[in-house]
Amino acid sequence: MRRLKSSLIITAIIAIMAAPSYASSWVNFPTSWDIGQAFAVSLTSTADYSSPTVTWMNRSIALNVEPGGAGKISYGLLGSDVRNIKPGSYKILFEFIQGGKKYKASGNIYLRAKQYPKEELKVNPKMVNPPKKELSRIQNESKLIGTALRTMTASRRWTTPPQPPLASITLTSNYGKQRIYNGQPRAGHNGADIRAVTGTDVRAPFAGTVVLTGFHYYAGGSVYIDSGNGVITVFFHLSKILVKKGDKVSKGQVVAKSGATGRVTGPHLHYSLVLGGQFVDPIPLLSTSITQMLKRGNTRQVN
Ligand SMILES: [Zn+2]
Repeated sequence: MRRLKSSLIITAIIAIMAAPSYASSWVNFPTSWDIGQAFAVSLTSTADYSSPTVTWMNRSIALNVEPGGAGKISYGLLGSDVRNIKPGSYKILFEFIQGGKKYKASGNIYLRAKQYPKEELKVNPKMVNPPKKELSRIQNESKLIGTALRTMTASRRWTTPPQPPLASITLTSNYGKQRIYNGQPRAGHNGADIRAVTGTDVRAPFAGTVVLTGFHYYAGGSVYIDSGNGVITVFFHLSKILVKKGDKVSKGQVVAKSGATGRVTGPHLHYSLVLGGQFVDPIPLLSTSITQMLKRGNTRQVN
């Protein structure tokens, strides 16, 4: 009897150890994409796994594991920043642990050049070349913003399509526009400007946690919301901020009122979507879903 019991235990242990070798896993990512545009990736397996990450543009993005796909699935949203990414081939790396073994799967994504228009703007001269006394303030804000944008939490609180941040979406300036302020070229536009009279309700596109708020030199009234897996929503030029750092917000919650604070030519909402530190065009995502986006990728087997 005793012997039978121990052999059962041994059999059980062998079964547990052996199970992952019967697991099959796949990753999905596109082979080419436009610079500045968001794309979706996934990892799916017939068996459970842990600590999934995807590394892209030198940033390791923590994913979560949820039921779906072949059994378990991890979703990621990635992209490239039009301001500093050049066309070319870039490595993507997936890693996860299954049955005590670390699995890696890598590939390349070719980023295609995309033409974004130019735009000349007239603003207060101190918003192009700030006075000396503002430099320490600007430096301090840029540190806070850097920290907020590096927030990395594994739990996914973003679901697609996002809630549009305003009831009506009319663009006054597209993402990616190269901007010339008072004749001086500056970095391309890292978000979309949406028409909004001062005081319009601004809604959270995704559920998440507020990681930074403030009235900043260039951006004016600002709200940064982390929705997990490196997905961060940013609003600028707000007149009123209705949330504070650490607040949990639900999808569609009114988090601020639009305005005309900071470097602006008039009232509007500036809406940025940051994916793993990369500012991408937030608008195309408003009319698509993760499932539709993944259909544009290729699947390859890992184990
Ligand atoms: Zn803007």
